[in-house]
Amino acid sequence: MSKIPMNTIVEMDGDEMTRILWKMIKDELLSPFVELNTEYYDLGLPKRDETNDQITVDAANAIKKHHVGVKCATITPNAQRVEEYKLKEMWKSPNGTIRAILDGTVFRAPIITESVKPYVKGWKKPITIARHAYGDVYKATEYRVPCKGKAELLFTGENGESFRKTIYDFECAGVLQGQYNKDSSIESFAHACFEYALETKQDLWFATKDTISKQYDQTFKLIFADIYEKKYKERFEKAGIEYFYTLIDDAVARVIRSEGGFIWACKNYDGDVMSDMVSTAFGSLAMMTSVLISPDGDYEFEAAHGTITRHYYRWLKGEQTSSNPIATIFAWSGALRKRGELDGNKPLSDFASKLEKACLDTIESGIMTGDLAELCDRTDIKKVTSSEFIAAIRANLEKMM
Ligand code: NAP
Ligand code: MG
Repeated sequence: MSKIPMNTIVEMDGDEMTRILWKMIKDELLSPFVELNTEYYDLGLPKRDETNDQITVDAANAIKKHHVGVKCATITPNAQRVEEYKLKEMWKSPNGTIRAILDGTVFRAPIITESVKPYVKGWKKPITIARHAYGDVYKATEYRVPCKGKAELLFTGENGESFRKTIYDFECAGVLQGQYNKDSSIESFAHACFEYALETKQDLWFATKDTISKQYDQTFKLIFADIYEKKYKERFEKAGIEYFYTLIDDAVARVIRSEGGFIWACKNYDGDVMSDMVSTAFGSLAMMTSVLISPDGDYEFEAAHGTITRHYYRWLKGEQTSSNPIATIFAWSGALRKRGELDGNKPLSDFASKLEKACLDTIESGIMTGDLAELCDRTDIKKVTSSEFIAAIRANLEKMM
């Protein structure tokens, strides 16, 4: 059988257990079938340290050039990691660096199987969370008010205009926080959400607390409404999908009662919190995929989970672990499918779908990793190690090729 040719995608290797899985996936599930053509960037922590993190910036710029990238989970260093890896500096989160360069929106969606039932009984289809990954509380200026005194909000415009208002006359100690966001960032978030809804043919929901936050959240609501009316209304109607705005409390209640099958656009903090809730309720973080889409149409695919450190330390001691490679495999299949779509390379897109089907068939046949076995209430399941699991997926894939 001849291997499927492809154009270049950007490959970003990572750390710990996911780095081990990364190699297994390439060796067993990709290289035997595809003429893998990647521009390789090692984002493993030792290489980031060696290059003063330049490698991360180079990888992000390479995604801008080739438009498709796939990334392995990476360590975001903290004080303990600085010690463990004897780092020169506490380097920033690679995901944060890449997101800042691509100015993208992150969409996270669960991979659903028959065997693992969501905790919320009514959920039948995936719920995709779109998180606005800029500003608000993540870029806030905070102050611990030490004593009695007056806090004011002050803006000095370049054009001489100014705004000044008392926030609170403190009669005792307290706390203060100043948040901001930018129209340009909210606009690109809105465009990314509308485009992704059209691409995936799903309804788009958006919710804020505009009844209480009459300027801040109201701005988000108005920008979304304006862009929808001017640019997307007709295309949505033609595609038979809907844009729906409601209050965040109402959205939360509706999401729980829903069947799923829509995109839920969230402000930064809401997206942070709700994506953990949604992924847990669907079963497992190990079954969550993530794609970063830039306003220029660049795509970066990855798993939503981390480097599975606890498993890695066991693996280092020579133990075979039962780490779940599914989200990382789906990061690869997502990237290969997108590459295929952009280039009109149908065999490549078809391969991506077969790879995903081979994964799901393996799970449905009762062969799965420990995390899934724990969530599954079937009695006929076989819990396997990562390499046994990948071998079973390969056997299914070979039958389809
Ligand atoms: P984690 O790697 O997601 O793992 C947390 C726990 O979740 C694991 O110990 C494991 O539970 C379970 N788990 C996660 N993924 C799994 C999988 N594929 N298969 C089976 N079990 C899985 O999170 P963490 O331990 O908080 O973070 C570890 C490192 O990852 C940190 O250095 C962090 O900076 C980094 N991180 C990177 C990214 C990214 O690159 N996108 C995201 C998050 C975290 P059990 O041990 O109970 O089996
Ligand atoms: Mg979070």
